[in-house]
Amino acid sequence: MTGIYMREHHLAVCKNCFPKWFEGRVAETIERYKMFKKDERILLGVSGGKDSLALWQVLIRLGYQADGLYLSLGIKNDNYSLDSKEKCIKMKEKLGRELYIVDLKNEIEISIDDARSIHLKTCSICGTVKRYFLNKITREKAYPVIATGHNLDDEAATLFGNLLRWEESYLRRQYPVISGTNFFARKVKPLAFMYERQCAIYALTSGIDYIRTECPYSSKATSISYKENLNQLENRHEGIMKFFYTNFTNAKKKDNAMMKAEEVEIVSCQICGEPTTVAVCRFCRIKEKIMNKKKNETEKREK
Ligand code: SF4
Ligand code: ZN
Repeated sequence: MTGIYMREHHLAVCKNCFPKWFEGRVAETIERYKMFKKDERILLGVSGGKDSLALWQVLIRLGYQADGLYLSLGIKNDNYSLDSKEKCIKMKEKLGRELYIVDLKNEIEISIDDARSIHLKTCSICGTVKRYFLNKITREKAYPVIATGHNLDDEAATLFGNLLRWEESYLRRQYPVISGTNFFARKVKPLAFMYERQCAIYALTSGIDYIRTECPYSSKATSISYKENLNQLENRHEGIMKFFYTNFTNAKKKDNAMMKAEEVEIVSCQICGEPTTVAVCRFCRIKEKIMNKKKNETEKREK
């Protein structure tokens, strides 16, 4: 049987044993960072991609209570979104868990494709929309924990970008677990120490049906170029990505000052009522811009 060799661990695991090995390592991360307990309900953001679906299955196999939230973003006139939604529904049926589906068009009459019309970066708007609904549904359904499928490549690329631009407030916030507050649930990233390729191997070796095509907007994402650079380094210096992120989290653990996020006052958004740090939350500002743009275009056409 062909073995899967992981250079960074100096370890070879056969295809049959790989899923167990992977699940064991995720379990270690959950315990090391005290992410959640068996009796806590977890809401996991699922996209139909390998990482979030792999995490969902791992959590259930480890005995945790995880449900999914799928956000239909209307990407590329729905084609990409429909495919990814179908994969999430399949996984929900396989695991026998709840899957909440939020359709952006029903909620706010816009889709992520509309983002270009207001000259903002699509991925930045997408991130805001995803965070908004994850927080909102988590609170409405009273989940104490939000999980996401960010893997080591994602976390290392984010760290790399934050260091290059010296984004102090983001560096303070970046960690595999962020404690909950009165307004927000605890946020956890159980795959933060698993390489992207390991997540892909897990999905393949444990029979997960995930969307193989990338989001059509991903080529424009800044994080892609950071990932390419980090992967080049990884190819020459095995394990460097893991050292980079692990040593950062270890340094943060030791230094209480670095762990302390800036204290900001939370208020209710004047439009939607969701918690925010400014009078009108970013989500409502983006929505208003897109709606105004659409209204102006309709008025122009009708003249
Ligand atoms: Fe959203 Fe960008 Fe990811 Fe596509 S690549 S799902 S637009 S964040
Ligand atoms: Zn708002």
